[in-house]
Amino acid sequence: MKTLKLFLSLFCASTFVTVTAQNNVTIKTIPVSNSVYMLVGQGGNIGVSVGDDGVFVIDDQFARLTPKILDAIKKLSDKSIQYVVNTHYHGDHTGGNANMKKEGAKIIAHDNVYKRLAEGNTTEGLPVITFNDKLSVYMNGEQVLVFHVDNAHTDGDAMLYFTESNVLHTGDNYFHKRYPYIDVNSGGSIDGYIDAVKRALMVIDENTKIIPGHGDLSNKAEYASFLEMLKKLRANVQAEIDKGKTEADIVANTTITKEYDDLNYSWNFINSEKIRRAIYVSLSGKEN
Ligand SMILES: [Zn+2]
Repeated sequence: MKTLKLFLSLFCASTFVTVTAQNNVTIKTIPVSNSVYMLVGQGGNIGVSVGDDGVFVIDDQFARLTPKILDAIKKLSDKSIQYVVNTHYHGDHTGGNANMKKEGAKIIAHDNVYKRLAEGNTTEGLPVITFNDKLSVYMNGEQVLVFHVDNAHTDGDAMLYFTESNVLHTGDNYFHKRYPYIDVNSGGSIDGYIDAVKRALMVIDENTKIIPGHGDLSNKAEYASFLEMLKKLRANVQAEIDKGKTEADIVANTTITKEYDDLNYSWNFINSEKIRRAIYVSLSGKEN
């Protein structure tokens, strides 16, 4: 069963890669605060903090993009990369780990990220510092809170909050204006995902800039409406389960997601069928 689960998660990750691997990737740098930037390339959005203490990085996309990512970082700072925090184990967030370690960076991640990367036979890209609940990194004039949220996108998610810059990086507990990927085969769940968003919303304020795992730079009001979407879809799926509907019924029932389908939340990786299935599987306690 473990092997099957690993296969499925690798399969999902590779599907995600092939969907977007065709085009020639450029790394876009978006200023977020005086010292924090968002880098957009292919895969999960990267966060970068620069300052006197060096460079602090959140996620590192794919190995083949490392040279381009390093070029983009060098334009922001001539200092070395001290730490890379992985928000979770998926390959579009950790693929550059081994390269970053060669640059001298120490990789930090949740205990379960270490476990899952180790199961995937990665040795060079393994984190060197792991944590269970939370940790703080004091760098570039501020405290960076790194906190774990349980069984949300996966079972090893971290969110990061820059206390002075007032910037939140959500990892994949936020897909901006899109249906989220809830990786139920890697310990993710709809209820954990909802709780993760609620917890993040308690940490931030109206002026916080949010770097989502995927999609555009965002803010608290938009994140709150994303939470509303999750709660509505959960309630709609639960109502169908209560009526005795099956997985097939729910996957086929477009009225469950219509409101957000009409707002184009459905996208190539997580279309409306997939989000209905993921929520059903999560609520019924049945793994794929
Ligand atoms: Zn992910």
